Amino acid sequence: MARGQQGDPVDWVTRAADDAVRHAGEGNRVTVASGASPSGPIHLGNLREFITPHFVAEELRRRGVPVRHLHSWDDFDRFRKVPAGVPAEWAEHIGRPLTAVPDPWECHASWAEHFKAPLQESLRELGVEMEEVSQTEMYTSGAYRDQVLLAVSRRDEIEAVLAKHRTKRVAPADDASEQEAADLADSVANEDDEEGDPSAAASADAIARFPYRPYCRECGRDTVTTTAYDDATTTLSYTCSSCGFEGTTDLSTDTDGKLVWKVDWPMRWAYESVNFEPAGRDHMTPGSSYTVGTELVSSIFDWRAPARVIYAFVGFAGVQKMSSSAGGVPTATDALRILESPMLRWLYVRRAPTQAFDIDFGASVVRLYDEWDALGRKAAEKSDVATLAWQRASSTAAGTLPTPAVPVPFRTLSSVADVTAGSAELISRIIESSGFPHDSVDDLEPRLTKAMQWTAEHVPADERTNVRSAPDTERLSSLTEDEELWLRIFLDRLPAEPDLDSVTAVVYGTPKVARGLGFEDAPTDQVKADQKDFFRLLYNLLVSADRGPRLPTLVLALGTEKVRHLLGA
Ligand SMILES: [Zn+2]
Ligand SMILES: [Zn+2]
Repeated sequence: MARGQQGDPVDWVTRAADDAVRHAGEGNRVTVASGASPSGPIHLGNLREFITPHFVAEELRRRGVPVRHLHSWDDFDRFRKVPAGVPAEWAEHIGRPLTAVPDPWECHASWAEHFKAPLQESLRELGVEMEEVSQTEMYTSGAYRDQVLLAVSRRDEIEAVLAKHRTKRVAPADDASEQEAADLADSVANEDDEEGDPSAAASADAIARFPYRPYCRECGRDTVTTTAYDDATTTLSYTCSSCGFEGTTDLSTDTDGKLVWKVDWPMRWAYESVNFEPAGRDHMTPGSSYTVGTELVSSIFDWRAPARVIYAFVGFAGVQKMSSSAGGVPTATDALRILESPMLRWLYVRRAPTQAFDIDFGASVVRLYDEWDALGRKAAEKSDVATLAWQRASSTAAGTLPTPAVPVPFRTLSSVADVTAGSAELISRIIESSGFPHDSVDDLEPRLTKAMQWTAEHVPADERTNVRSAPDTERLSSLTEDEELWLRIFLDRLPAEPDLDSVTAVVYGTPKVARGLGFEDAPTDQVKADQKDFFRLLYNLLVSADRGPRLPTLVLALGTEKVRHLLGA
């Protein structure tokens, strides 16, 4: 499978795509997979689960290899706990499938849909196309019936594998992944006798470790204890500890339960012929679902564990400053309010998945935009691993992701947004006179809106520019002789209809004229010292600070009328 020309840069995506092709076999369609439980907001760390196979799929499309990105929503998982901010009565839904829990915010059909929807929207904006599968639909339609019956008929072999890998239970950390939590839930349900009386363990009824668990027909919860299974009739008997229901379910005809997670995952690798799937670091511990699944997929389901990459955590700097839709942990929706979608892609593709990194929505966003713009210029000229990451971030097989037609530096847009606190149209007019001609506001988008949102939401109040509403009469009445002269020259020369060049000339030229030089003359050391003092004076009088946005930009943003007023004209 052609990787491209020899000497082309090779990154983690190239290597992962090679692995996926090797797994599928030359000439075969490749399936890359991801999976997530929509039990709560899907934060930027979880985004790695989706975006890692996406980049691999895109690389394969680029090579002309048939590929699909299959995403499984683990929405048939149980609702585990009532998070803060949700009415306490939602506790009655604990143990029910996420698709059977109502949406407390009443905007979606279920709890699961409420948390899927915003991520689906962000993924569309990010150019991530996937074939989405709902595990509720798969299980309740009976799609997995043969696999369920197979797993149940070979439950003793499965139990032998699980037992071999079973280790002393460790409570997961608060930030444990859903699947890790599911692992623990499985183990709690299946290992009640694990660390107790050895004779109890020895006599443990195999039925307690049954690989399939129904949701109670009466109350819909998974708080059931399996009491018997008849292989001849495939009838499972259970009792429910929540409602007291005692009943049966026929695995050949009913579809009201699911395989336990450690069996479910390898079953799906086989069912969907998965060739590549990333996994979070937490899956790589001994006895984890990945380790167990690797063994079960070949011994029971006649498939082999997919090629994989292990991905590390994504951290968040400056999160406490922001109001996030995930209660402190930012989501893709939050990130896309301030970053162009190719830039958010770039944060993930430029580093190997094994590398942890931090996302920072603070001051470093400005530098990130500069770095991104510089890389784009470099990509036009040369090809290396860095520019390859830029290309992967910038476009997909479906086309180029949205970037501004006129790429004004983010720092300029945010300065103007900061000073004016005004509308996009006003900012556009000031940007126009600042040396960035454009036909309409649209030419500045999507960057302009993101700069406005970043300035409003992420620049702390004490770092914002506060334009004076009235002249500083005290300061104006105590000007030195030099200062008085500068202001007189400045106001005299400031054009009625300024643009960036004319304002820049006046700002820098005023101290020259005061020393008997012309605007075009090179500044002397004395003039340079005067410029510093003059600039500070302007900042004092305009924004009550010793520094601020670039003065020509500030003057243009305020408009000559306001500037004249504040300078005592
Ligand atoms: Zn909703
Ligand atoms: Zn029940």
